[in-house]
Amino acid sequence: MALNFIFSPQNEFMPIKDLLNQRSSNQCELCSGTDGLDVMVVTPKSGTSTDHCINSCKVCRIQINDSEEIKVNHWRCLNESMWSEVPAVQVVAWRMLNRIKAEGWPADLLDMLFLEEETLNWAKSGHTDNQSDIIHKDANGVTLIQGDSVVLIKDLKVKGAGFTAKRGTAVRNISLVHDNPDHIEGKVNGQKIVILTQYVKK
Ligand SMILES: [Zn+2]
Repeated sequence: MALNFIFSPQNEFMPIKDLLNQRSSNQCELCSGTDGLDVMVVTPKSGTSTDHCINSCKVCRIQINDSEEIKVNHWRCLNESMWSEVPAVQVVAWRMLNRIKAEGWPADLLDMLFLEEETLNWAKSGHTDNQSDIIHKDANGVTLIQGDSVVLIKDLKVKGAGFTAKRGTAVRNISLVHDNPDHIEGKVNGQKIVILTQYVKK
């Protein structure tokens, strides 16, 4: 990342990273973790000011950047951090709660989270993850989330792969196909395949 220097009254040209560490008392502004702290620019802002950035730990960054890595319970930290006075933190909290709101409790937190209009527009403008609008349900109507383990309830011929995935096969760490509520992805026999949600159960 390019070095961004901004003027601060106490320290001329103090790097953004140092200013963020000051603002956050050297803690992740989402989960208070201290491992691998770094600047995270909250898109679509440019990161030329600390107002556009948060101090984030490695655990949070990995999960924010990769839906497959999301551990829903980690984000219970937002219970506290969503009340931050820093708009950039509110924006990240809002986006993450939306991504995992199928879990239930994040939706309850979202109901309580009030963002100023400008902040809300910022949150929405960078939120391209529409999976929140599409809910994946298994054969019993139970909501599936990223990372779930499911079991096949039917023998499934895997087109093009030349094998049949047997009924009772466990598929771990599924991914949701964002634009199709009937499709999930998971590995069977070491191959990533698309599976219809009606043939699995959690
Ligand atoms: Zn964190």
